[in-house]
Amino acid sequence: MSASELAGLIRRQQPCVVLTGAGVSTESGIPDFRSRTGLWAQFDPLEYASLEAFRRDPRKVWSFYKPRIAVLTEAEPNPGHRALAELEELGLVEAVVTQNIDLLHECAGSRNVIEVHGSIRTATCPGCGERQPLQRVVELLADADAPACPACGEILKPDVVFFGELLPADAIERATELARRARLLLVVGSALEVHPVAGLPLETLAAGGELAIVNRGPTALDNEASIRIDGAAGELLPQVVAAVH
Ligand SMILES: [Zn+2]
Repeated sequence: MSASELAGLIRRQQPCVVLTGAGVSTESGIPDFRSRTGLWAQFDPLEYASLEAFRRDPRKVWSFYKPRIAVLTEAEPNPGHRALAELEELGLVEAVVTQNIDLLHECAGSRNVIEVHGSIRTATCPGCGERQPLQRVVELLADADAPACPACGEILKPDVVFFGELLPADAIERATELARRARLLLVVGSALEVHPVAGLPLETLAAGGELAIVNRGPTALDNEASIRIDGAAGELLPQVVAAVH
């Protein structure tokens, strides 16, 4: 299956909604979670990324998050992110639903982005509820191993969805609605292993839409896809943009 076939499918099957996972950001130098070399091979997510772990020992969770924030704030969008922004600009992508928390779709110019796992854009104080922007969190981290709330001193929690936490209801509702209306759901860089987001393609299929997948390695729904391309988003999506022109 080729980029030009995918371009044809995108043109025919409108509206097209994109669902992205960690694979779209690995080319920006951001490690994924579940691969052999991913973060969860090094860090037990229940110890470093669960709500319970944060309540028990927020400083330990920040020992994982502080270097991660440094990587995320240094990262730049790659050609895959930029291609998706261009497809939106061309009116061929209605929205990007992302599992990523890195803000790179927005950085690349995508406008309609639904962050179903939250993002690093803000952090919230579990004590007083005050919310701080990323820039302030970075400043607080310059002098400390964990950012303390300027108002009450409690350790801030990044507004990313931790294990044991519900997804933001408005985001998942919007994503589900978009998936139901989509004539094409294009999955990029996700093995479709993490629920409930992995269920979004099923909404599209149940409503009579089609599924296309661009991912390195197999996914849970390969057999349901009209087009399945094994490859890197940063190489393939620019070819798709060239082909739709
Ligand atoms: Zn506070």
